[in-house]
Amino acid sequence: MALQVYIGGELYDKADAKISVFDHGLLYGDGVFEGMRSYSGRVFRLTEHLDRLWESARAIHLEIPMTKQAMGKAVQETLAANGIKDGYIRLIVTRGSGSLGLDPNRCQDPQVIIITDSIALYPEEFYREGLELVTAATIRNHPAALSPRIKSLNYLNNIMAKMEGLRAGCVEALMLNHKGEVAECTGDNLFILRRGRLLTPPIDAGILEGITRNAVLELAQQAGIVTAEIPFTRHDIFISDECFLTGSAAEVVPVVRLDGRPLGTGKPGPITLQLMQRFHELVHG
Ligand code: PMP
Repeated sequence: MALQVYIGGELYDKADAKISVFDHGLLYGDGVFEGMRSYSGRVFRLTEHLDRLWESARAIHLEIPMTKQAMGKAVQETLAANGIKDGYIRLIVTRGSGSLGLDPNRCQDPQVIIITDSIALYPEEFYREGLELVTAATIRNHPAALSPRIKSLNYLNNIMAKMEGLRAGCVEALMLNHKGEVAECTGDNLFILRRGRLLTPPIDAGILEGITRNAVLELAQQAGIVTAEIPFTRHDIFISDECFLTGSAAEVVPVVRLDGRPLGTGKPGPITLQLMQRFHELVHG
């Protein structure tokens, strides 16, 4: 059976899952989205993802035409229709179709789309050996121009940086903010361990408030590791003892090189490995 995609209350075969070319989601990237994981049929931190989707929508003055509860139910129905227990879920809400002008008031019918699929995981080797990052010349969007806290359908900022990473042979790239501080990667948050403290940039460094990031901060605190959300620079990564990334798709993945320079011992560190294990237990437990 073809993959079933949810659009506005109906399920369609993948090939028939279509929306208007006049949708401002397509014309202008005017919409919001979420990426979530389900483990053994249970969506990890569904409430947090729905809250973030609603906040993103609110920030762009877009009213989602259903309740969070109905969205949660639609997610479960779409997973069930596809027989997916362990998979990736993409929620999309577009502004809807309008005229060719910018005016969002002329858009009708915001489209709610739910795509569930098997997950394209990073190779196992990245988790065992750690991955390498390069610093992108493309800085993260200035928060006063377009807040990185909004998970909007306009991901060009991240895509430009991703292209730089891929050209350098890296699957992820480090993005700095307009102040030259570390922000995040193109689709993952970043942590370092320095002198026994686990550090990650604060939300106002201009980052997406990752749900995996928040889960890892909680896990670290439960393990008695001191955590701090403070601004830091690339210098701090170079002198860090450990480094890792977090994201719904990547989960927790060690970083062992930045811009060709080894970090820490050049191998995934003990705290990173401990947090990977704790995260594994959290999502599967
Ligand atoms: N930063 C960016 C820019 C992202 O797009 C994502 C998610 N894809 C993340 C961080 C990680 O967020 P989460 O843990 O909620 O997946």
